Amino acid sequence: GIVTDKLPGALEKVPGGNVLVTRFDEIINWARANSLWPLTFGTSCCAIEMLMATGGPRHDMARFGAEVARPSPRQADLLILAGTIVKRMAPRLRTLYEQMAEPRYVIATGACTISGGPFIYHSYTTVRGADEIIPVDVYVPGCPPRPEQLFHGLLTLQKMIKEGETIREPGVRRKPVISALPEGV
Ligand code: SF4
Repeated sequence: GIVTDKLPGALEKVPGGNVLVTRFDEIINWARANSLWPLTFGTSCCAIEMLMATGGPRHDMARFGAEVARPSPRQADLLILAGTIVKRMAPRLRTLYEQMAEPRYVIATGACTISGGPFIYHSYTTVRGADEIIPVDVYVPGCPPRPEQLFHGLLTLQKMIKEGETIREPGVRRKPVISALPEGV
């Protein structure tokens, strides 16, 4: 009843009322998507919108199972980048990413993280996009993106994980997507 309604395609009822688990990969992906643990990487103004606004009671990131932010990469599987990344920080970011648990995912929020933002032309210090250092799964544009946009990016990532045909293997990355809210939202 309730369980099978929430797991479309993952569980199959068999005659007689019993439940048969048909695809173990789907169960694992469903569980992973709904229990992402973020590693915070807020480096400038986007961080205010990131876990400070989204984690608070007004927006309540716990609704999506992703509120357990960790300061240790070894306890995290989702890296939410929020803010400018400077060149001296880049090797540390790579190290943090490599220390995270696999399978690991990356959401890049805001113009600075995605492309260098306003610093792209006249700064000798700023990295021109996080994907020059680590692979990104979902881009959330904005300056800064609102909490709703970050949630849209999170839901986009969850959809990507749930619809994965197999359990994501270490080192295997899917094509990244841009998370864009419909106009007027
Ligand atoms: Fe700040 Fe805008 Fe850059 Fe975000 S994208 S870190 S809000 S300047």
